Amino acid sequence: MAQLRGVGIGLGVAHGPVARMAAPLPAPEDTPSALGGEQERARVQEALEAVARELEQRGAQAGGAAQEVLEAQAMMAEDPTLTDEVDASLAQGKTAERAVHEAFASFRAQLEAVGGYLGERAADLDDVAQRVIARLQGVPAPGVPEPGHPFVLVAKDLAPADTALLDLDQVLALVTTEGGPTSHTAILAREKGIVAVVGSAGAAGLADGETVIVDAAAGAVTTEPTDDELTRAKNRANARAAAADAPITDGALADGTAVPLLANLGNPAGAAEAVALGAEGVGLFRTEFLFLSASSAPTVEQQRASYAELLAAFAGKKVVVRVLDAGADKPLPFLNDAHEENPALGLRGLRALRASEDILREQLTALAEADAQTRKAGSGADLWVMAPMVSTVDEAEYFTAIAREYGIRTAGVMVEVPSSALMAEQIFAHADFASIGTNDLTQYTLAADRLLGSVAGYQDPWHPAVLRLIRDVGAAGAKTGKPVGICGEAAADPLLAVVLVGLGATSLSMAPTALADVRATLLTYSLDDAQRVAEAALAATDAATAREAAHAASVSQKERMQ
Ligand code: PEP
Ligand code: MG
Repeated sequence: MAQLRGVGIGLGVAHGPVARMAAPLPAPEDTPSALGGEQERARVQEALEAVARELEQRGAQAGGAAQEVLEAQAMMAEDPTLTDEVDASLAQGKTAERAVHEAFASFRAQLEAVGGYLGERAADLDDVAQRVIARLQGVPAPGVPEPGHPFVLVAKDLAPADTALLDLDQVLALVTTEGGPTSHTAILAREKGIVAVVGSAGAAGLADGETVIVDAAAGAVTTEPTDDELTRAKNRANARAAAADAPITDGALADGTAVPLLANLGNPAGAAEAVALGAEGVGLFRTEFLFLSASSAPTVEQQRASYAELLAAFAGKKVVVRVLDAGADKPLPFLNDAHEENPALGLRGLRALRASEDILREQLTALAEADAQTRKAGSGADLWVMAPMVSTVDEAEYFTAIAREYGIRTAGVMVEVPSSALMAEQIFAHADFASIGTNDLTQYTLAADRLLGSVAGYQDPWHPAVLRLIRDVGAAGAKTGKPVGICGEAAADPLLAVVLVGLGATSLSMAPTALADVRATLLTYSLDDAQRVAEAALAATDAATAREAAHAASVSQKERMQ
């Protein structure tokens, strides 16, 4: 057996025979057009329109986040910059197929140059180009294979149009050789609860028909698995299915200690599903996700409407909204469009908002108005507001003071930078609560860019250095009587969730699809057990041994119980 590494989406595990996605259409030849510019232009127009309508139709059929993605793709097909580029190529006597190919390639290069979230939209653009060229050539667009039995789909990267309509009775798991954790394939896989490993370059060598285990929790694809490995994978899949079917209760430990389980959301549209999966509120609403493609700052009115929709969906419950977190992986040109050599260490998060305080004030105005509006309508929630990337006590004081000017009752900070974890007690002199963002806290503790594949091995929140910082924040929270939530991906790893509670976390927030696993796992540990498992992990020397030590401590605790 061999293990191929990648980025796991969610916690699932599945196994089955590989079926590979058909290869993309080759680039059309650069031969002169025999038809002439006018006729070629009409062909392009027909094809672009037809593809845009087809994508919209698929979106309407799929609904949810998929619909938004597909509608965004339909808009790409009709983007005027693109049609201008096509016209320029047609004017040089190229064929419709070649002109479309070149225009999309240039558009793609522009997106890739921007990088981050927009860079990951490049795959969406490739898919639109393939569909348009296939239409022009009168051939079917390359799509998902249909081997006639359930399979593990292996592809370079999946187009949203394919992911949206995947037949989940047939597709056991997804493996892509490209794409990162924020690619649309990943977002949609997360939403649909599809077992997925993305960005696994080694998967390019997988052959049709060979059996693999896809382990999203471990971010690994195992080839030529042994019988033992297959049995373990089946047992884990069964345990997950049982957790998903278990009754939805509020998050709690075996001894009854409450651990509220909250949802991470980026759009109010995700609220209904989160509620259905038992979210007791929202622990992280990423407001910047609403405005990632905006070139100018959103208006107070635009924001108020979105926030009011969110608050009403969680009436009577806690909703933690994060003010705009711009920078690095989430560029917002209206907050910081300066070129920086190291954007992760640049003018980002609260630093960027402080430099454009009018934008922060407008956002707080919109939040206060949405709060007042929903309360008046009887659908108010318990609104908490926090700032991202706080790295000094002064920033905590600045943000909480300005939030209170707008009547925000509960104002807190995210702990994502080691300096604020180490100064947590002083930060709590100002902040009503802290929420630990383990994604960035890990990135900054281990000095490893969270978007860079070559250092992905360092981005492991199990590292005892990260756990010690979390322990310090937990202790400061207990001493000052302030809540300490966790809202990074770490909270979605069931055993790590137990460790986090043992380190002093008072609530956990995660992608809604992870709630069932975490809920079921917490119910099997008392607070004493969780503290013992956390101690075992803290005493380790690296991430892998911390994970193993926590497993060993939890197995011996389970044996004691029997
Ligand atoms: C984090 O850094 O852990 C976090 C929750 O914020 P984001 O992933 O949006 O940076
Ligand atoms: Mg962060």
